[in-house]
Amino acid sequence: MTQEEQKKNELALFGGERAVKSEQQDMFKWPVVTERHEQAVLKVLRAGGMSGFDITKEFEKKYAQLLGREYGLAYHNGTAAILGALYGMGIGVGDEVIVPSLTYWATVTPAYNLGTTPVFADVDPDTICIDPKDIEHRITPRTRAIIVVHYAGMPADMDAIIKIAEKHDIKILEDCSHAHGALYKGKEVGTFGDASAFSLMTGKSLAIGEGGILFTDDRKVYERAILFGHYIRHNEITLKELKPFAGLPSGGYKHRMHQLSSAFGLVQLELYPKQMAEIDRAMNYFCDLLDDSDGIKPIRPEKGSNTTKGGWYYPHFRYVAEEFEGLSLSRFSEAVRAEGAICNPGCNKPLHIHPLFTTMDVYGHGRPTRIAGLDESANIDKYIEKLPVSESINLHVFEVPWFKRYLPEIIEEHANAYKKVIKNYKALLADDTGKDAEIGGYSSFFSSRKNTQ
Ligand SMILES: *Cc1c(COP(=O)(O)O)cnc(C)c1O
Repeated sequence: MTQEEQKKNELALFGGERAVKSEQQDMFKWPVVTERHEQAVLKVLRAGGMSGFDITKEFEKKYAQLLGREYGLAYHNGTAAILGALYGMGIGVGDEVIVPSLTYWATVTPAYNLGTTPVFADVDPDTICIDPKDIEHRITPRTRAIIVVHYAGMPADMDAIIKIAEKHDIKILEDCSHAHGALYKGKEVGTFGDASAFSLMTGKSLAIGEGGILFTDDRKVYERAILFGHYIRHNEITLKELKPFAGLPSGGYKHRMHQLSSAFGLVQLELYPKQMAEIDRAMNYFCDLLDDSDGIKPIRPEKGSNTTKGGWYYPHFRYVAEEFEGLSLSRFSEAVRAEGAICNPGCNKPLHIHPLFTTMDVYGHGRPTRIAGLDESANIDKYIEKLPVSESINLHVFEVPWFKRYLPEIIEEHANAYKKVIKNYKALLADDTGKDAEIGGYSSFFSSRKNTQ
């Protein structure tokens, strides 16, 4: 081996040449802001329409049409859209909702605003989505809904979940904040639930700034959500039981979307399908290059299943330490990052063990907020779950580069970074503590994003 070859083969962590050498161009730039976006936003600014809702309504209508749902209602963020959806579905004090522990906190916390008790279920280790096998035994007479998250773009097992919901006559809310445009067996996510909510903030795959949106086919859900947080649109309320309450926001919330976001979003709806197709092509190419590698496994739908990951937000692979003689995930990812590729260990931290869900009394009820809406005999201990997959998954998954462009040569370099580390894993064992540092976080967007160039 010449010295040059040696340098190339040696891990960058130990002074070798980095596998990722090229200029990354616009591989990771997101969202893509075009002149059309700029013009659309300027138009609103110049017309003095920032706080109106005419453009927002246009955005809602167009998005609902594209998705094939009856009603769309826009919000200033996804968290509020989830709150509005829960209220819209009639969920309130003393009710329980079943939610995955492995998700961004906003899937769950809005339940607190309504006096509702979240009940956590475990996730499936292969999809990181709520495990249908862990739902049914958690259903009580108080259970009103299952909140499904299509985590990291991977559609949840909707057939099984719908079966459970129908059997027990409970509702489904889809949190689609990771999965804009993803298909489950050929049908778009966000069309399965009684309601669905999407975050549209800058980090998400359909990004419009700060924003969120709720979809439903149920007029009552839509009107209740308007009553709750869109007081300026109370003239849309037609249902007799709601009309007397119009005029003031029933929950005291103001949920209107900023029209600069709606204007940006109208352009985005046109451009997204093409962007999504390119991302899907790029990410599948990256996964194909690494599919046969030892110790790592892409998390993606089976080929030919007509299930897709949409814009592939926050893509992850599984890590099998046993295939690397127990090499810690932290050490493995450190070596991949040294090669210039993106590799962040873990995903979201499990929510069910955080004190917010075990002890904290947020509003002064004199007992944990988690059970504050239940009758006096409720015992928090009964609600503190053991969820083995959620509690350990951070050691078994890692975040891979989220390519926005199909530029094969750059994608190959990133795949080669992984291959090189896999080939040389033995060299990493010597200094490995065998333990993983604290991994995973509560916010993927701000805390765990490293080395995104
Ligand atoms: C981002 C996100 C939300 C909240 O959306 P915001 O627009 O940030 O308020 C909700 N659920 C999930 C799964 C998310 O990733």
